[in-house]
Amino acid sequence: MKIKMILPALMEAKSPLWRPIKYSLFPPLGLATLAAYCGADDEVELQDEHVEEINTNNIPDIVVIQVYITNAFRAYKLADYYRKSGAFVCLGGLHVTSLPEEAMQHADTIFIGPGEECWPRFLQDFRSGHAQKMYISNERTLVNIPPVRRDLIKRHLYLVPNSIVVTRGCPHHCDFCYKDAFFEGGKSFYTQQVDDALAEIDRLPGRHLYFLDDHLLGNARFASGLFEGMKGMNRVFQGASTIDAILRGNLIEEAANAGLRSVFVGFETLSNGNLLQSNKKQNIGKDYSAAIQRLHSLGIMINGSFVFGLDDDDKDVFKRTVDWAVEHGLTTSTFHVLTPYPGTRLFKQMEKDGRILHRNWDEYDTRKVVYKTVGLSADELKAGYDWSYKSFYSWKNIYKASMQHDVLKHKIKHFAYAGGWKKFEPMWNFIIKTQGLNKMLPLLESILSKVNNTKKDKDTIFPAIA
Ligand code: SF4
Repeated sequence: MKIKMILPALMEAKSPLWRPIKYSLFPPLGLATLAAYCGADDEVELQDEHVEEINTNNIPDIVVIQVYITNAFRAYKLADYYRKSGAFVCLGGLHVTSLPEEAMQHADTIFIGPGEECWPRFLQDFRSGHAQKMYISNERTLVNIPPVRRDLIKRHLYLVPNSIVVTRGCPHHCDFCYKDAFFEGGKSFYTQQVDDALAEIDRLPGRHLYFLDDHLLGNARFASGLFEGMKGMNRVFQGASTIDAILRGNLIEEAANAGLRSVFVGFETLSNGNLLQSNKKQNIGKDYSAAIQRLHSLGIMINGSFVFGLDDDDKDVFKRTVDWAVEHGLTTSTFHVLTPYPGTRLFKQMEKDGRILHRNWDEYDTRKVVYKTVGLSADELKAGYDWSYKSFYSWKNIYKASMQHDVLKHKIKHFAYAGGWKKFEPMWNFIIKTQGLNKMLPLLESILSKVNNTKKDKDTIFPAIA
């Protein structure tokens, strides 16, 4: 049987605002995970429209399309095309789970929730000629899942081919997050067995890993076992954690010893009122500065995430946040305009209050305002969001933020990482065009090398930037 798995790109892929590097980071791991359940005789093809043109000429028996909110319209277009051409079309992913009735109009079968259990159930039914219209994930486990079909991933097209996921979901329940909607009806946070995760790591070439888990430190026992097992593996890795997990116990030291060099942290807002409004309990009353200091003392770079447009925000929130991020030496920052994703508690509340402006999912990209704001106008929110990116990534602020570290090597790494990520767009475009992204890995690995907190390093003056 011929099976084609597609991750469509968002409509913006054709726009001049498109940043190819942003979408050339990670391969479609979810689809490669599902591909592992196909039979030995099945011919499986994996296509990621973010990095390659979709070949629509060959029509397989089954087409599986992964749908997220901003690629939804493109995904439906592809689905309609393949159905008309005679293929059996399955849709799954976050957006399908949030809006099954909408997705159903474009599919023969849809999957609700994570696919590890319902996809093999569907395959069995399809082979016996009894495929159903909808499969709902009713069992959540990562025990004994087959190894990800990494042979289907075109590694040379990605900057970070060694992305990996060893847990599913997150133990928290923020109102604006997709997580609860996706995992509704079952466990919403579960992990692989430590040995299976270590075996998966062992199968990956090179040194660098990027854990795409929502919260790598979310289960302390699992994470501790994982970091213990990774100690001798000579890896450098990046991942995500919450502030409370960074402050609690000594898990973060264990992570650093295992090779953690950069962490994504959801600070989201500096306002307690906003945290309360978003049900982001794990941040309330937590000492952000202490968490940052702890990470920096371990030589771990920080990518801070911030949301603008919560009801407690005013016109000054942008400057306040950028100044704070720079003064605290965050290496990179990801800013978002608050976006009420369908299926979330935030969306339901805003819909009830008549605040949802439209359902053009293309615009639900965390860069545009799609709801009625409070405290500042939509124009102010959009302008402030744009200004924040510009200001945080000005050379002046990159330099100022890198100077916040004690250690020379950390300053240099910070400067190189932040500058490289945001300031060399034409270089990235050229590298992508010449399919040389994979060759950048050694450079990334060296930027993520260990910082030693030696006195000599601390006393060295960072050279002035002209
Ligand atoms: S901590 Fe992050 S992943 Fe977890 S529910 Fe909140 S936003 Fe979602």
